[in-house]
Amino acid sequence: MIPATFEYEKVTTVDEAIAALSNDDTKILAGGHSLIPAMKLRLNRPAKLVDIGGIRGLKDIKEEDGEIVIGAAASHADIMYHTLIRHHLPLFTEGAAMIGDMQVRNHGTIGGSLAHADPAADWPAMVLAAGAAIEVQGPNGRRRIPATEFFTGLFSTALEPNEIITAVRIPVPANGAKSTYQKFAQPASRFALAACAVMRFADGKTNIAFTGVGENAFRDTGAEQAITGKAIDENTINAAVNAALEGVTVMSDHYASEAYRKHLAKVYLKKALMMVK
Ligand SMILES: Cc1cc2nc3c(=O)[nH]c(=O)nc-3n(C[C@H](O)[C@H](O)[C@H](O)COP(=O)(O)OP(=O)(O)OC[C@H]3O[C@@H](n4cnc5c(N)ncnc54)[C@H](O)[C@@H]3O)c2cc1C
Repeated sequence: MIPATFEYEKVTTVDEAIAALSNDDTKILAGGHSLIPAMKLRLNRPAKLVDIGGIRGLKDIKEEDGEIVIGAAASHADIMYHTLIRHHLPLFTEGAAMIGDMQVRNHGTIGGSLAHADPAADWPAMVLAAGAAIEVQGPNGRRRIPATEFFTGLFSTALEPNEIITAVRIPVPANGAKSTYQKFAQPASRFALAACAVMRFADGKTNIAFTGVGENAFRDTGAEQAITGKAIDENTINAAVNAALEGVTVMSDHYASEAYRKHLAKVYLKKALMMVK
């Protein structure tokens, strides 16, 4: 299948990308690993693609003012192999390695994954558990959107149509934090049928996020409250597992029924909590 005809422009600055987005029919092209398949299936027919791969600095990964800053155009592999990430955010090293296959990891970007907001994508759960903020820029300047406010529904986000994600900012976790990403992958695509990211901080605060389960990735506050500040043992793990998914509409599709997906999510939460014990 081939996509419908479109114009292509490669920009070199964020301002050029924002200016190009003033046209409703224009979309940003990052790794192309979600957008191009959608265009081939004619689910998406933009008149113009603006390639952000040439914007200097947009792939950078650095530490700044107590935060790890990951440029939106950093690929899954860039993040997975980065020493700073391995040192401060092993959650991202572990989770990035589970995205698709090597080709997907080399081309797909964190910004593209967050903007696309596939309900089964991996980055949304990881950024939620890490307490990240998504930095975006548009005609009215820059703003930071907490990850907890970014995912608003199925393939939808708090991003305005003429805004571009420029970076993901994560507070550097204090020494003693533990984390893990546990995923049951669909065997062909490697997307999550259910996955759970957990970040347990040294003071006992515990962030728990799911993807693949509901219409969008989310923090599970019920499960978090059951375990935050308490020792992780059989009783507290069971309490968190029992509290999880309260009030969540769990998806059902031809890969997994609602009941099976719910079961998987709870099993993967249990695995995750045992890993951060
Ligand atoms: C075979 C296959 C297997 C995959 N398996 C997995 C998996 O296991 N887990 C997983 O999480 N993902 C998986 N993916 C998806 C992959 O990670 C995508 O690359 C990713 O979701 C989208 O990133 P991208 O850079 O390719 O974005 P693109 O496809 O270029 O863009 C996606 C959307 O985001 C918008 N966009 C891109 N960058 C920005 C930006 N900076 N600001 C604003 N909007 C932007 C685009 O306009 C478009 O609407 C898979 C993909 C394939 C093809």
